[in-house]
Amino acid sequence: KNITNGSTGGHKIKVVCRVRPFLPTEYPDDSVKVESSHVLRVSNYRDPEKDICYNFDSCYGPEADQQTIYDNDVRFLVQNIFHALDTTVFCYGVTGAGKTHTIQGSDDDPGIIPRALQQILDQTRLRQDISYEVTMSYYQIYKEAVFDLLCSSSSTSDCGSAQSSMGLPIREDANRNIFIAGLVEQPIASYSDFAAIYGAACKQRKTASTRLNQHSSRSHAILTINVQWTDSARSKSMRGRLHLIDLAGSEDNRRTDNSGRDRMAESSAINKSLFVLGQVVEALNTGAHRVPYRDSKMTRVLQHSLGGKSVGMMIVNVAPGERFLQDTHNTLNFATKSR
Ligand code: ADP
Ligand code: MG
Repeated sequence: KNITNGSTGGHKIKVVCRVRPFLPTEYPDDSVKVESSHVLRVSNYRDPEKDICYNFDSCYGPEADQQTIYDNDVRFLVQNIFHALDTTVFCYGVTGAGKTHTIQGSDDDPGIIPRALQQILDQTRLRQDISYEVTMSYYQIYKEAVFDLLCSSSSTSDCGSAQSSMGLPIREDANRNIFIAGLVEQPIASYSDFAAIYGAACKQRKTASTRLNQHSSRSHAILTINVQWTDSARSKSMRGRLHLIDLAGSEDNRRTDNSGRDRMAESSAINKSLFVLGQVVEALNTGAHRVPYRDSKMTRVLQHSLGGKSVGMMIVNVAPGERFLQDTHNTLNFATKSR
């Protein structure tokens, strides 16, 4: 049996796999099978001897619900924020594999974002002696330009005018912090604050993607929660950040076997940020000397939240079914490289 990436030790970015159920419109088959809580078997119909097994930190099948995944793999990561650490959770996979379902979910079946907000706000109430300040920002990266998703929900006009087709500029301050100039940062005092702002932003994201003609699958949606407080014992200002990211569909970024650099160059032009993210993660996990943060907008913005003391997790969303098999292999090869 072929096992890809059997090792679970030493990697910096945790990789979790989630296979969604077949949809009512699909014919079920046994192209992918969760073999254990860590192993996904991808079938080779021509020769079962050549099935490939991929190994993950956790592997979830179609029966796994949002709550289970959150409690097992996300809850303790979110807690990092209160240790002043930056944490990033990505959802990676082809369009239709369940990224948005996993990270955002729906009103009836909330995903990671609303659960994380709830957890963070609950936690800030546990300590009466500390006053926490929670803010959020939410933006998209499309064709290497940054677009605010909280803009249209605020009535301030300077926000709209800054939002040209060029998008918002990325800058570095005197302390070498990287920031997006003009990005709205909304204070969140309660869950209902969050729900109102986030609900409007999700609508905005939908409208924008209709305007872009289905290209939503090519944009990355990045929600950042910022928590700041003062450590009175050390009278020091502390900060933790959590980035929750619905990545662009990985079908634009095929890295098929060894078919050469040209194809990679082409796909990287289509979605540079996704391509460079793969390189950054690989560089971090192999301890490479140079990490190419500056090569794309998304990795530049996340520079201080990837690597170093920060923590990352990639959720690999897989759509079952024979028609997705090639995409599934591409996705899993990218993901297992991430570790
Ligand atoms: P993506 O964002 O990767 O393009 P979506 O999250 O939109 O994919 O999922 C595609 C479809 O599959 C949607 O109709 C979604 O509701 C459904 N779906 C995805 N994951 C699950 C799941 N774990 N359980 C039930 N339905 C799911
Ligand atoms: Mg989606």
